[in-house]
Amino acid sequence: MYNMQLWETSGHAANYKENMFVFEIEKQEFGLKPMNCPGHCLMFEHRVRSYRELPLRLADFGVLHRNELSGALTGLTRVRRFQQDDAHIFCRESQVKEEVKNVLEFIKHTYDIFGFTFELELSTRPEKYLGEIETWDKAEASLKEALEEFGRPWLINEGDGAFYGPKIDIGVFDALKRKFQCATLQLDFQLPIRFKLSYSAEDEAKSERPVMIHRAILGSVERMLAILLEHYKGKWPFWLSPRQAIVCPVSEKSQSYALQVHEQIHKAGYFVDTDMTDRKIQKKVREAQLAQYNFILVVGEEEANTGQVCVRVRDKSDLTKMSMEELLSHFKAEVAAYH
Ligand SMILES: [Zn+2]
Repeated sequence: MYNMQLWETSGHAANYKENMFVFEIEKQEFGLKPMNCPGHCLMFEHRVRSYRELPLRLADFGVLHRNELSGALTGLTRVRRFQQDDAHIFCRESQVKEEVKNVLEFIKHTYDIFGFTFELELSTRPEKYLGEIETWDKAEASLKEALEEFGRPWLINEGDGAFYGPKIDIGVFDALKRKFQCATLQLDFQLPIRFKLSYSAEDEAKSERPVMIHRAILGSVERMLAILLEHYKGKWPFWLSPRQAIVCPVSEKSQSYALQVHEQIHKAGYFVDTDMTDRKIQKKVREAQLAQYNFILVVGEEEANTGQVCVRVRDKSDLTKMSMEELLSHFKAEVAAYH
């Protein structure tokens, strides 16, 4: 929450106020932040900066609020309170290319993990723009070089940039080939001007203005969760699953062993449930399957005696016996396969 003065400096008061939650305290207006950028400008500005500190990268998962119309709210995709994996990179003009390339690599690294493909478009100077034309030309040239060096095909969207800077649009495709806009990679020359940001250059008497890069990889974490849920059709990969394993004792006699198994898995850092109801084992397993647990671990007296578990993998009907050691190293390998 910031005093409205900040939102006047950033331009949100003039252009975005109806989308903000604004209220009065002791005759002063305050607003909940709809974006992190102005706050990060304050952090840059709070003391004297030198070129040696650049690029300065500030990441923020802080809560954001946007006052969407109630009719526009939808599930997790359009909400009033959300978080972004947001960051702002303050850098010199000469560092733009390298920073942009790093962000593109970061996006690729992250999307590969989820099995997303993506396409890239460069949006250039629009008819109505602010700032010097040379700055725009230099920035667009840096973005083009970064895209070339990144080595994936990209398209140009002539004149589709924001009035405050050029950007790279990243279209993500999920398993059903549907396209989403999640990541952001946007150059900004205007916010540093509005906040009068500067740093001292090599020649200390000279101060220069930083370029600001807005970047998000997942975008809204809530919205990404909804996209992933559909992308995986509710079957989360093991490393991301909120239901990694469940222990199902065959009868009351094997309950105490089931709890030992539970404890070992939990201690190893995985999520595990135990079905302690006195229902038939078939019923427990069926329910665990419907709940999409990645691993269903059946334990009876025999397993209790040998220190093993009977493993049933989601969507597969065959059972394998494993020692606890084997099971935990199998879990470890499942997670490692994604990173
Ligand atoms: Zn931003």
